[in-house]
Amino acid sequence: MRVVLLGTAAGGGFPPWNCACALCTATRDGRLPSRTRECAAVTGNGRDWWLLNASPDLRAQLTATPALRPGRGPRDTPLRGVLLTDAEPDHVTGLAELRGAAGLKVYAAPPVRDVLAPARAALDRYAPWEWPDSLAEGGFVLAGGLVVTAHPVGVKIPAYVPAQAPQPAGPWMTAYRVEDLASGGVLVYAPCVAAWSPALENLCAQADCVLLDGTFFAADAMGTAVRSGSGQAAVGQLPVTGPDGSVAAPARRPGARRIHTRLDHTNPLLDPASPARERAAEEGVEVLLDGAELLL
Ligand SMILES: [Zn+2]
Repeated sequence: MRVVLLGTAAGGGFPPWNCACALCTATRDGRLPSRTRECAAVTGNGRDWWLLNASPDLRAQLTATPALRPGRGPRDTPLRGVLLTDAEPDHVTGLAELRGAAGLKVYAAPPVRDVLAPARAALDRYAPWEWPDSLAEGGFVLAGGLVVTAHPVGVKIPAYVPAQAPQPAGPWMTAYRVEDLASGGVLVYAPCVAAWSPALENLCAQADCVLLDGTFFAADAMGTAVRSGSGQAAVGQLPVTGPDGSVAAPARRPGARRIHTRLDHTNPLLDPASPARERAAEEGVEVLLDGAELLL
């Protein structure tokens, strides 16, 4: 299985257009590499590729990745579809870049499919796509020899969903376990996680590589208010630090290669010279650049 990290930044990209914090300024000055919005691509056979989320930077990401170029015919592409983990804008708006591509399959959990209904109807007018339920019993098989199961990891509802409309407390956030039947390699893709759980811990412990939500360094770095499915309690996102953060929690059962992605511009892990990055490296956590490739 080949995995390409097409983008590794959180929703604003790195740097966001409207921030002049120290890290963002360092990026504009050329002292740190810039990053596009989080999104990845995976293949089992090198010919059939599947996107893991669809970022707003998708056109540039696809253009920059030789394996995803169109060909042989003038309208042929190796892209077969998309697996969505959630309905956040930085994970779904790239679907608009794909409009008109024939026969794509876009897997998503039921609450995500429901909230995207208007966009789905619009996209299907360019070219009809399939929108399978990612949580269907038994998982699903992707062209190229990949077997996938989806796993609920949170109920955070996107901020654009009207608060007055009661929403189901369903699986708004899912992680994917992707297994290559030929190599036996297992990837866990979890770039949007509400909180650490025994189920996620089991999933990660049995993988070869885990792409983990590294959005917020500390719990108090979470900026925008979010709400749960009940519309009541505010829920957050998995922080990097703390006993159940994305560094310490998976380290309790080491084995899988752990890579943080979807980094927010406030996250000191963006700076390779930071003490935070040094500590994370000591714990075995990696931070890679856009375009990095993994072989599993
Ligand atoms: Zn900033």
